[in-house]
Amino acid sequence: MILTGPPGAGKGSQAPKIVNKLTIPQLSTGDMLRAAVANKTEVGMKAKAAMDSGALVSDDIVIGIISDRIREIDCGWGFILDGFPRNVAQTKALDGMLAKNGEKVNSVVSLEIPDEKLEDRICGRWIHKPSGRSFHATYEPSMPKSLKAKPKGTKADSTNMFDDETGEPLVQRSDDTPTALKNRLEKFHSETVPVLTHYEPLGIVSHVDASGSKSAVWAQIDPAIGNKAV
Ligand code: AMP
Repeated sequence: MILTGPPGAGKGSQAPKIVNKLTIPQLSTGDMLRAAVANKTEVGMKAKAAMDSGALVSDDIVIGIISDRIREIDCGWGFILDGFPRNVAQTKALDGMLAKNGEKVNSVVSLEIPDEKLEDRICGRWIHKPSGRSFHATYEPSMPKSLKAKPKGTKADSTNMFDDETGEPLVQRSDDTPTALKNRLEKFHSETVPVLTHYEPLGIVSHVDASGSKSAVWAQIDPAIGNKAV
């Protein structure tokens, strides 16, 4: 199954619910690349500059990462791709990899939201790295308790942004800036939207309005995914 949508559409928030329902793993190329950058691996060194500017990392790198990962035992019953494929070349490579084992993409969930709504979501986003939990600097329902406890209007910074469950520090992604977001959105429209066009004729694409609350978005995804991925 493929989970797609622009940055800030809520892929990271919804993926754990899909994992829970279908009991198959989520494979996020963005998370894998960030781990490679943090560990200063060869792949990480090659990917860092492209990621920081909001450009795409080379197809060879991401296709290699995914093709290795899907051979692992936990992917044997299916998997959720988050952030991959990002263009038509990756889509064809994915179809080819799956076809070798008589498999195919069964379901594509497309989270859809106007670009104007994304800058606030992305540029106010703070993340708890170990769990992937995501918080927001100004949007009350997603504000961490540590900032809510401060006087109203206090600006978020590293002294007041902590994870609700563990109390550990939250961080901002280096590409969650207005400039990088502009590049990421341009790439999304020019390169990633054609992935949907590729799968549309197969009748497996579910279009989800992602502009509402987390629960309103889940209420659309839940019936759409059924047990298609397993
Ligand atoms: P994400 O966490 O999915 O927003 O990904 C963060 C960054 O990692 C992107 O802006 C790209 O630079 C890179 N990246 C993630 N997945 C891919 C992919 N499938 N192809 C190329 N670059 C990717």
